[in-house]
Amino acid sequence: MITMDDIVREGHPMLRTVTKEVPIPPAKEDQETLKEMLQFLKNSQDEEIAEKYNLRPGVGLAAPQLGLDKRMLAIHVDDIKGKLHSYALFNPKVVSHSVEGGYLSSGEGCLSVDREVPGIVPRHARVTVKAYDMDGNQVKLRLKGYPAIVIQHEIDHLNGVMFYDHINEDNPFQPPENAKPVDQE
Ligand code: ZN
Repeated sequence: MITMDDIVREGHPMLRTVTKEVPIPPAKEDQETLKEMLQFLKNSQDEEIAEKYNLRPGVGLAAPQLGLDKRMLAIHVDDIKGKLHSYALFNPKVVSHSVEGGYLSSGEGCLSVDREVPGIVPRHARVTVKAYDMDGNQVKLRLKGYPAIVIQHEIDHLNGVMFYDHINEDNPFQPPENAKPVDQE
């Protein structure tokens, strides 16, 4: 099972790498890794398991966070209505997005960042993502609110981008124009 020891932290070059596409149909090994990534998120959100294995709760994980040069990610997150968005994806790509922006009013965190980095991270309010699922079928997801923020954070990891790259250095809590906090809808 994946634990915090498997997750690379800030300073690791893979977190600054534009990662490579995963061949589709996916190899068994890639499917297995992706399955474990999703399982890690579930484990990290289970109080007992998280405590036993010292897991920091997470809602998303990207392969470069395991030091892997592969475009794959998992998210496991409830939206504001309590609907679960649980996805394990190969080669995800934002194909369109809203003009309107969105952000988490409390800022973002990352399993690869062992410190608080305060500030608003401007994102798109809504995104359409094309990807391949675990079995290699093409899927198209339309996401808004918290899940939309999470998937943008994870897709950034596939491109070597960290959440704090987006924070306005001079005025970290200045709300971006034409953007709403997604956690207060
Ligand atoms: Zn992250």
